[in-house]
Amino acid sequence: MTDLHRLSVRELTEGLAAAKFSSRELTEHYLKRIEKIDARVQSYVTVTAEQALAEADAADALRKAGGATVLTGVPIAHKDIFCTHGIKTTAGSKMLDNFISPYDATVVAKGKVAGLVTLGKVNMDEFAMGSTSESSYFGATANPWALDHVPGGSSGGSAAAVAADLAPFATGTDTGGSIRQPASFCGLTGLKPTYGRVSRFGMIAYASSLDQGGPMARSAEDCAYLMNVMAGHDAKDSTSVEKNVDDYVANLNGTSVKGLRIGIPKQYFNAAGLDADVKARIEESLKKLEDMGAVLVEIDLNMTESYVPTYYLIAPAEASSNLSRFDGVRYGYRAENPVDLMDLYKRSRSEGFGKEVQQRILIGTYALSAGYYDAYYVKAQKVRRLIQQDFLKAFENVDVIAAPSAPTTAYRIGANLSQVEMYLGDIYTIAVNLAGLPAINAPVGFDKDSLPVGLQLIGNYWSESQLLSVVHQYQQTTDWHTKRAAIAEENA
Ligand code: GLN
Repeated sequence: MTDLHRLSVRELTEGLAAAKFSSRELTEHYLKRIEKIDARVQSYVTVTAEQALAEADAADALRKAGGATVLTGVPIAHKDIFCTHGIKTTAGSKMLDNFISPYDATVVAKGKVAGLVTLGKVNMDEFAMGSTSESSYFGATANPWALDHVPGGSSGGSAAAVAADLAPFATGTDTGGSIRQPASFCGLTGLKPTYGRVSRFGMIAYASSLDQGGPMARSAEDCAYLMNVMAGHDAKDSTSVEKNVDDYVANLNGTSVKGLRIGIPKQYFNAAGLDADVKARIEESLKKLEDMGAVLVEIDLNMTESYVPTYYLIAPAEASSNLSRFDGVRYGYRAENPVDLMDLYKRSRSEGFGKEVQQRILIGTYALSAGYYDAYYVKAQKVRRLIQQDFLKAFENVDVIAAPSAPTTAYRIGANLSQVEMYLGDIYTIAVNLAGLPAINAPVGFDKDSLPVGLQLIGNYWSESQLLSVVHQYQQTTDWHTKRAAIAEENA
């Protein structure tokens, strides 16, 4: 079969169950595509071909023996932030260019239990800091829709791999938008779960109170399959929550769009930086949801102006603490010929970390330092609480909140936005992480340059099923999620 990459995850599970193709054939098919196409996309940092084929053979054997479960033998790509036993895990950094993890992240381990076949590790902004994937030590990844544009970030490799049909789905992480914004830039569906829903064990930490893993795929249905694997309590992550996990696939039709109250925050849609095409496509998608029976309700989110300063204080503060472990001593990059221990620390860190990461460590360390802690970090935590309360108040009156995932479509590679411009691009996603809420991106059309536009739906705590269900129903009556970039149409 030449078009296995066109099948949805559900179709893959059905095809494998009916023995229409084997996991080996499917895995070989994807590996061939990666070999032929990824030189132009650069989504993979590491391709684990040999191991993938071995896993595929094991999956096929298990199926023959009657031990297969639903996803046994389906391939996946993991963001290179998830530790993978025996495979390089770089977090997009020179600091970890030589790091071979001695253990699996819980998300990866759960994937193995579910029978997923790891195709490889995909590119990302260094330590997940960025919105373009350009800060990766391994170079930029291309947006499959326009190869001279970025796929977004930080989970840009995950998004590009799926959008170019180089993986059926992929894991991502979202600290301030890193699942939703690349999903938006690449025309995909991506879910950032409630904080605590997915284990962070073995997920290299950026800002621990904000980081959350989630699925990236073509559709809500495909995301639901991966969410069923990723979600759940983990004793190894003290912030993971002991709460029953929904069957996200079974619940895909569980929420009715009829009567669903969708909040439209005035402050979001009247923002000066919101691109006219993005705004128009989102309004069309909301009109469509209205036609399906949803009720649109104008709401206020008064803290909008505080999002960027609050996030860009808390995230770097936590990053400065988390990244202090990379000292050149125990693992990772080590500077050559140090004259003493201080020289070893200093040079390992200044040679091993890129510019954006170093800047954030400096800002974060400053904000946490004795004389400034109350004025900056404590203050930011207080504002964070107000942002959360703003959302909770809104949810008293609406079921979900609609927003753009990003104010623009994908930037050009090398556009060199100022740091302020770049950070303002996160305006619609970061508050969700500050509040710990779940949110989903769904593709809803294209701008004048044929670049994808994404709609974000933000839900109340633990409403992943509802978000996936609403998007699933939208996707049953629209076809934006079925559109493919030209490069994805190529056969290997
Ligand atoms: N763009 C944001 C940042 O650079 C969010 C990144 C993320 O979610 N990992 O911090």
